[in-house]
Amino acid sequence: MSYPSNSRHAKNPLGELSIIDRIRARTSRSSAVLLGIGDDCAIVKPPPGHELLVTTDFSLEDRHFRRIWHTPASIGHRTLARGLSDLAAMGAKPLAAFLSLAMPKSVARNPRWLDGFLDGFLALAASHNVPLAGGDTAQSPADHILADIILLGSAPTGRALRRSGARPGDLLYVTGALGGAAAELASLAAAPRKFRTATAADNHPHLFPQPRLAVGQALLRRRLATACIDLSDGLSTDLAHLCTSSNVAAELDLAALPLHPLAAQLDDRAQINALLHGGEDYELLFTASTSTKVPRSIDNVPITCIGRILKPRASQPQMSILSNDDRFELQPRGWEHFS
Ligand code: ADP
Ligand code: MG
Repeated sequence: MSYPSNSRHAKNPLGELSIIDRIRARTSRSSAVLLGIGDDCAIVKPPPGHELLVTTDFSLEDRHFRRIWHTPASIGHRTLARGLSDLAAMGAKPLAAFLSLAMPKSVARNPRWLDGFLDGFLALAASHNVPLAGGDTAQSPADHILADIILLGSAPTGRALRRSGARPGDLLYVTGALGGAAAELASLAAAPRKFRTATAADNHPHLFPQPRLAVGQALLRRRLATACIDLSDGLSTDLAHLCTSSNVAAELDLAALPLHPLAAQLDDRAQINALLHGGEDYELLFTASTSTKVPRSIDNVPITCIGRILKPRASQPQMSILSNDDRFELQPRGWEHFS
């Protein structure tokens, strides 16, 4: 419970309690959640032999979304997708989601925004069988909507995929295609109205990204990956994270990078930028030993070999990119806060 300026019991059309009721009325049950919305804590039981994985992600207005660009449903979907993608990267199964939501009074007063947000959030939740098991609701101190998603997942003890397992000689793979989210964001900025009717049913890599949970779980179950990370900040930045965690270097084959059809419409320079540095594709980047037979697709998601892992050498860049017969240094130029 929060205490917006002495109006804790104010009879707004949507007060805190009616907001929670509105959310609760739409949530589904799950066997992992022994107690959901309504008490001081939720009670969640991971399956025997599994450990708990926890991730949290902010979705902040004017930082991660804009009300003029993103419909409430897209904001709800993206809020949950960010957390689910982190679970996917570790090969985890989602157990429960928690949503902390701060809204300005002007937004809370009109149930349409919240209902639209829940439409997007709960549709994605239902498609991955993840119950909304709690959260917090407050009046935002400014005119911004703030959403924080907390996800609990589970993985067999000791088996979660990490960023740190890549070894020199491993091959580097990516799911799906790259640059689609950056390309769609550029068209969204140019023509926001065009996207007001977009839905998750169509292919909208920026507005409705699809976290790769089935692929992550298959990589874990079939012991295919030595390391894994999700592409939230952009290939160059996330590959640097993987290399640093694993203490290795990497090289990419530019021609092998799977370009999203939306990004194919950009000019050459923008295309390369979208491929290498465009964030929010929420694909998985993983490594596998050369002796592992990695399938061409998992759960209908294509998988492409895009490079290899090398020994780190002080005289050589951490990341390089091969194009025709030339080799270039690749710098992490994806998304970074406080830059
Ligand atoms: P407390 O003050 O004890 O933290 P609250 O009044 O904040 O309790 O919340 C009551 C119940 O509603 C709790 O189970 C909480 O998890 C749930 N809840 C509150 N806000 C949300 C939300 N935005 N989404 C989902 N559940 C929520
Ligand atoms: Mg609370």
